[in-house]
Amino acid sequence: MAEPLLRISGLDAGYGDVQVLWGVSLEVPRAEISCLVGSNGAGKTTLMRALSGLIEARSGSIVLDGKPLAGASPEAVLGAGIAHVPEGRRLFAAMSVRDNLLMGAYLRRDGKAAIGSDLEKAFAMFPILRQRSMQDAGTLSGGEQQMCAIARGLMGRPRLLLIDELSLGLAPLVVDELCERLRALNREGLTILVVEQDVAIALELASTAFVMDTGRVTRSGASAAFADDPAIREAYLGTI
Ligand code: ATP
Repeated sequence: MAEPLLRISGLDAGYGDVQVLWGVSLEVPRAEISCLVGSNGAGKTTLMRALSGLIEARSGSIVLDGKPLAGASPEAVLGAGIAHVPEGRRLFAAMSVRDNLLMGAYLRRDGKAAIGSDLEKAFAMFPILRQRSMQDAGTLSGGEQQMCAIARGLMGRPRLLLIDELSLGLAPLVVDELCERLRALNREGLTILVVEQDVAIALELASTAFVMDTGRVTRSGASAAFADDPAIREAYLGTI
């Protein structure tokens, strides 16, 4: 089997005195879409934050393609190739869509032409963002904001795109469109890890799934096997 792009081993992390992640281990396969599901408060967002250097790993390791990242700053993590689309999108509301996208490229040193060409790609992928490019990001609809946040992440030219809560608050048609774009990016070779509260959407989109419960990864494997598993269906899909 190919070496995973990201390997997390025995990761402990939390906030102040509160430990949230307990020995989290998982392997994100290269050039695949994976999903992370689990009940509210399971620690999914905390894991995303620990991966992107926003909170410190207390112990354990995070290795991207052989490069150790535990303890790295958010800039170093981005520089290493991990972009994070955070829960709630966190756009710069008073800045234009275009400037938000350019913020995603702020660490790049490959020149204006390359960044301009990636901006064109982002607009080609999400044409509505071109139409809205001079509008303040805070005035976009929820779906447009999610597109802008994903496009901003892509402007960093990541090898691994983390998306926290892809579908939250969005209409089904918008979610379908976003999933289509993510599949297209994946076909080009991008590895994607999606935190998704709607397990049906997650299992449909991803080929590998991880389940978290109270700060631990309790199951991992092929999404198709999860979708067929009566225990998963009952716990997360509301059907048996
Ligand atoms: P949800 O799906 O509801 O967003 P989640 O799986 O993403 O849940 P987290 O947001 O990672 O879960 O939260 C895990 C635990 O960490 C919760 O008990 C939460 O109260 C706690 N927590 C989250 N953020 C903080 C913080 N800034 N300070 C202290 N505790 C926090």
